[in-house]
Amino acid sequence: MAAGARADLSIDDLVRRAREGSPRAVARLISLVEDASPQLREVMAALAPHTGRAWVIGLTGSPGVGKSTTTSMIVSALRARDLRVGILAVDPSSPFSGGALLGDRIRMQDHVLDREVYIRSMASRGHLGGLAWSTPQALRVLDACGCDVVLVETVGVGQSEVEVARTADTTVVLLAPGMGDGVQAAKAGILEIGDVFVVNKADREGADATVRDIRGMISLGERRQAGDWRPPVVKSVASRSEGVDDVMEALDKHWDWLQSSGELGRRRHRRAADEIEALAVTALRERIGDLRSGRGLDDLAAQVVAGDLDPYTAADRLVAAVAG
Ligand code: GDP
Repeated sequence: MAAGARADLSIDDLVRRAREGSPRAVARLISLVEDASPQLREVMAALAPHTGRAWVIGLTGSPGVGKSTTTSMIVSALRARDLRVGILAVDPSSPFSGGALLGDRIRMQDHVLDREVYIRSMASRGHLGGLAWSTPQALRVLDACGCDVVLVETVGVGQSEVEVARTADTTVVLLAPGMGDGVQAAKAGILEIGDVFVVNKADREGADATVRDIRGMISLGERRQAGDWRPPVVKSVASRSEGVDDVMEALDKHWDWLQSSGELGRRRHRRAADEIEALAVTALRERIGDLRSGRGLDDLAAQVVAGDLDPYTAADRLVAAVAG
């Protein structure tokens, strides 16, 4: 039914409906992001004046540590404050998204029927720029559609977790006792990105030791000045919603600090710069691809092979050609 009708909706109508709270319109806008639709320019232009309100919280940690359970716990606490919440489950390692992945996320079931909660999974679908490109744009959609808080949860593994964390105002790193997570955290550079550390599965043996380890590692790497943020380390048993008050207190304190220190503005500035760069690099790659399928790059390559041109000059000419 609506499929045809919706396809006919103008971007203005779609944006209006999404901003009025239609989950379907929001979902469609995010699909446009995922598909790198040419209509995105128009969408982003329409959304731009309505962005900048949402508090973006990133959650990261190894698979099985309890990200999805913790996300659900945090969502319940935010809903108790009557806030509108968006959840973006991002899978940097998979080109697939949509139904299947979302269907698996049964721990979100408490929230699927809540109209004030948007849940969406997203994968890179292999397009240029991948999630570094698409995550900030999906965040813009949720932000402009009135989400007070957006939780970005990474599913899957990989260094791109760190990349996704860069899109957040507040990054929560989840660990669990006995997973050798402390060592892993130090390796993955996760200590540097964490604003709040949560040792989940605190019902398991070794939770206090893990808390001590992390605290130790944080202070080892510390070169802080007065007024800097000291990442708290809190415990939780997300499957029983235990520790939710401590987690929320840590998050709230970070939010207050972000605002009072001016760091919020700095982070958002950095984020916008990253976003612009990702879009520009994508556009340049596409143009270079066009040159590749045309003759431009081949001609340059042939001249370099023949020794008529050095590769630096050839690259300069390529840059001039794509920029022109
Ligand atoms: P994710 O892969 O990081 O998203 O982890 P999930 O949230 O899917 O949780 C993985 C498993 O750990 C599930 O079976 C959860 O029920 C369980 N789990 C989550 N939190 C806790 C906890 O605090 N204690 C215990 N014992 N199990 C938990």
